[in-house]
Amino acid sequence: MRKYEDTYQHKGFRKRLVDILREKGITDNQVLTAINTIPRHYFLDSAFDKIAYEDRAFSIGEGQTISQPYTVAYQTQLLQINKQDKVLEIGTGSVYQSTILAEMGAKVFTIERQKKLYDLQKNYYFRNKYPNIKFFFGDGFEGLPTFAPFDKIIITAAAPFIPPKLIQQLKPGGLMVIPVDEGDSQRMLRITKLDDGTVKEEAFEQFSFVPMLTGKNR
Ligand code: SAH
Repeated sequence: MRKYEDTYQHKGFRKRLVDILREKGITDNQVLTAINTIPRHYFLDSAFDKIAYEDRAFSIGEGQTISQPYTVAYQTQLLQINKQDKVLEIGTGSVYQSTILAEMGAKVFTIERQKKLYDLQKNYYFRNKYPNIKFFFGDGFEGLPTFAPFDKIIITAAAPFIPPKLIQQLKPGGLMVIPVDEGDSQRMLRITKLDDGTVKEEAFEQFSFVPMLTGKNR
């Protein structure tokens, strides 16, 4: 059995990480507080214990990664989370991003297409602390029509295009944050769905994500 321990050293590393994120331009205190609260090392293999708070992505198996803290902070800040927001996340991966959103008070619906990664949630350490995260095995291109509409949608893999079904599942006035491009790096876009159903698009920095793939993988 894995032993989970959040020591003073971990807390110190985390505080330093928050300082780095602030230096890199993250200003939303709610986001920084959530990152300061959540022990990122719990989402990684114990071999990463000492480096879990470096501002970089790490492998979580199946060719997938836990996003870099700066990327998590950046996407979360763009989402402008309010307590009780209904948020759809595409790409559960390590559950770290979902946990940050849940800590900020959002109701999180997260979809993963890789069965092995989806199954990780069965041992999710914070299950009792964050019952506001609901896990789904499926294809993010389809979204979750039964639970739509959502206040916010976050895509944590590189999308080849903006999935039309996800736009449909966004509330009027809702926001979607999505890295788009099939090349080596993606432009972070924020889509606002206007009351008349049309969308407004804003472009931000370049990031590098693993690809958003179609279909499920058992
Ligand atoms: N949010 C994650 C980052 C995971 S990396 C975290 O905090 O750790 C991206 C994840 O998206 C991978 O787990 C990958 O399997 C998943 N993914 C890729 N395409 C997908 C799709 N169409 N639907 C659902 N998940 C997808």
